[in-house]
Amino acid sequence: MNASDSDRMKATLAPLGFEESKQPDNADVVLVNTCSIREKAEAKMSSFAYDLKKLKSKNPNMLIGITGCVAQQEKEKIIQELPFVDLVMGPDNIDDLPWAIEELTHKHTKKIIKAEFDTEPRVWKTTTKLVNPGPTAFISIMKGCDHFCSYCVVPYTRGREKSRPIADIVDDVKHLCSQGVRDITFLGQNINTFGKRSDESLHELFHRVHDIDLLKRIRFTTSHPGDLKDELIRCFETLPKLCSQFHLPVQSGSDQVLRSMRRFYTRAQYMDRVKALRQARPDIAFSTDIIVGFPGETEEDFEQTMSLMREVKYDNAYSFLFSPRPGTSAALRKDDTPEHVKLGRLQVLQTQQQSIAKALHVAQVGQHQEILIEGPSKKDPTKLTGRNSQGLSVHFTAQHNVNIGDLIPVEITSGSLTHLTAKPLTLS
Ligand code: SAM
Ligand code: SF4
Repeated sequence: MNASDSDRMKATLAPLGFEESKQPDNADVVLVNTCSIREKAEAKMSSFAYDLKKLKSKNPNMLIGITGCVAQQEKEKIIQELPFVDLVMGPDNIDDLPWAIEELTHKHTKKIIKAEFDTEPRVWKTTTKLVNPGPTAFISIMKGCDHFCSYCVVPYTRGREKSRPIADIVDDVKHLCSQGVRDITFLGQNINTFGKRSDESLHELFHRVHDIDLLKRIRFTTSHPGDLKDELIRCFETLPKLCSQFHLPVQSGSDQVLRSMRRFYTRAQYMDRVKALRQARPDIAFSTDIIVGFPGETEEDFEQTMSLMREVKYDNAYSFLFSPRPGTSAALRKDDTPEHVKLGRLQVLQTQQQSIAKALHVAQVGQHQEILIEGPSKKDPTKLTGRNSQGLSVHFTAQHNVNIGDLIPVEITSGSLTHLTAKPLTLS
């Protein structure tokens, strides 16, 4: 979501003549787009801002902006503690960026703070803005969240849930496809409840965009397991462009911890969804998010998370130590598990996950798969890279008769934790 917001910032500034600078040293404007999901991200923002202060002392015209969720939640603190910052802007205000830069540059306004949620109660009206899109693109189709899981800041930093009208999204997809995009990832914090305030739904959207000829692949994230309905699962049987990839954050394998997190599903209900998805699409790859060391998590609770991970066999798992966040109820809970115990659990869990993922990838050797070509490999430009339907990177020898955005058949020749290698099946 933040990467997509950063792309939008670049696109809103392009008409003013700005282009991306690889280093901040000689930039006219530096925007620090922040995440406040965990405390560490917030701490990184402060230390990076102090590095920018040094650059600004050499280049006093440099404008420094803090944007994103930390800006939304900590606007007063940023202004007080980082007085060299010129602009503080929340995620709902990105479209005001050109105005803010003009004010600061030409009207000599000293400081701008813009961190207000939009006031439209039901729908979110916007269009996707990208500078030179490639074969893949993110499209935000909704924003905010109504769930209030006990550990999470998102409802406070991104506001209540609002979805875009399907007709607007279809126009967006068609426009991006006319610019060369072939593989789209729809984004939303809680995408399964897309359209709930306007009587539209995610499965309806998938059916509509599936009819767009130029579009070859459809992906989406993030699904809350408690909101995952059968209609959506059925799309995996009927819509071949829907990729065999499902991010289904479980957070914990223990019912007691899930209750305390306010996740409103049980381990058994979660496993039922996994089973239904595997029935609908046998080659589906699951990924997940796990929080280790939630207040009150016992060794037994942790073991349940470990056993659930062995049962599901995730292709990928994003695992984090619990981080107490301001304004959330879990931050106030008694937490008597020592930090070193939590860190030990995280390490054990990550080691187990790595061996599961590696085994899943190695087992794909010999399979024939379709890869959508994304471009030359960063590590070895003689190779091309793309992703399979499951979302895993695949590197293969370049051919002269293929183009970026093409879907080509390959045979997998090796697998590792992070990627696959392959040989094209059409090589003459
Ligand atoms: N909406 C998604 C869901 O319900 O699963 C998750 C979105 S959240 C932005 C991404 C992930 O960050 C969560 O799934 C969770 O694992 C992690 N996360 C959120 N708050 C956290 C916290 N206070 N400490 C550690 N991890 C956290
Ligand atoms: Fe945060 Fe996801 Fe829970 Fe919403 S559903 S509060 S975004 S973890």
